[in-house]
Amino acid sequence: MNRFSYERAKSVADAVRLHAATPGAVFLAGGTNLVDLMRENVMRPAAIIDITRLPLRDIEQTQDGGLRIGSLVTNSALAWDARVSARYPLLAQALLAGASAQIRNAATVGGNLLQRTRCLYFYDPATCCNKRAPGSGCAALDGVNRMHAIFGASEHCIATHPSDMCVALEALDATLHVAGRRGTRTLPFDSLHRLPGRTPHRETTLADEELITAIELPREGYARHSTYLKLRDRQSYAFALVSVALGVRVEDGVMRALGCALGGVAHKPWRNGEAQALLIGRAADDTRAIARYADAVVAQADPRPGNAFKVDLARRAIVRAFEVALASNGEESA
Ligand SMILES: Cc1cc2nc3c(=O)[nH]c(=O)nc-3n(C[C@H](O)[C@H](O)[C@H](O)COP(=O)(O)OP(=O)(O)OC[C@H]3O[C@@H](n4cnc5c(N)ncnc54)[C@H](O)[C@@H]3O)c2cc1C
Ligand code: SF4
Repeated sequence: MNRFSYERAKSVADAVRLHAATPGAVFLAGGTNLVDLMRENVMRPAAIIDITRLPLRDIEQTQDGGLRIGSLVTNSALAWDARVSARYPLLAQALLAGASAQIRNAATVGGNLLQRTRCLYFYDPATCCNKRAPGSGCAALDGVNRMHAIFGASEHCIATHPSDMCVALEALDATLHVAGRRGTRTLPFDSLHRLPGRTPHRETTLADEELITAIELPREGYARHSTYLKLRDRQSYAFALVSVALGVRVEDGVMRALGCALGGVAHKPWRNGEAQALLIGRAADDTRAIARYADAVVAQADPRPGNAFKVDLARRAIVRAFEVALASNGEESA
């Protein structure tokens, strides 16, 4: 049996202090990922710091017209919040495309950001996995790699990040609020997750004891023209093979701003900012420019034999997402 201590944090500062005081500690939120990993002997924390009683369950309007979402807001509560469905429909769609209703009721947004990969070798302690056991190798390189990364991988790990919500947050240019030993700080969502490089076990840029306290959405939610397209083996209860979160602001028929991110294809939500910038100022019906953009994104792909199909799937998914988003005309009401 793997022994661990359990403490319930009384405040954000208490949570950070308890975590910092115990090497090998982890925070417990909804437990839908952490507890599974403990049961499978993949994670063996020395201490559990329960954060579920912290006052981080509010969704509030920010002064500059955005939304601040406490990290303990559940995936369901966020998806069904009227402000989110009206102003950030691609985020609501991404949340509702994930897991099942029961899991979304327990899962928190902080835990969703830090959920671990679904690489089957990571979950199997009998196999080599640099992420689970650094230096042991990567069984997926020459194994079953149908679900794995086509962008930004390394010879040490080709896992993908499984979250749907994170893909939407990347497209929306969200910001994170965190608290740690040195106080509080904010960071752009894009800088949270790392690519695997030589250290795939280091998945984020957070310090060990840093607690995510909130996610902040900017005012721009692309309510009128957006979509979350998730392609998977089954239509429910399955992780993405490829997903696309897309929001476009169109004025007088011209694309004036956009956010486009891919899921299921890299160790983090994947975005090609340079290619995306070339679409700004283009007519919204310029299908050739959109096709060129999709080609530019997938030109960076470096697939394995088992997942080469994802390259064309990603290209087509991007084009389809633009068709759907530009045909939609969601009314921003909140
Ligand atoms: C069967 C199944 C299917 C699923 N399908 C999908 C899917 O299709 N799409 C999808 O996106 N997700 C899916 N999920 C994953 C699910 O969304 C995550 O398990 C969930 O969001 C994790 O949230 P939690 O609150 O339960 O986190 P926990 O399990 O409590 O924690 C997860 C990790 O985050 C850390 N953590 C939690 N909160 C904080 C915080 N505030 N600050 C710092 N660290 C923190 C924990 O220490 C732990 O390492 C699925 C899960 C299951 C079990
Ligand atoms: S892809 Fe990453 S998570 Fe999967 S076996 Fe290789 S090192 Fe482990």
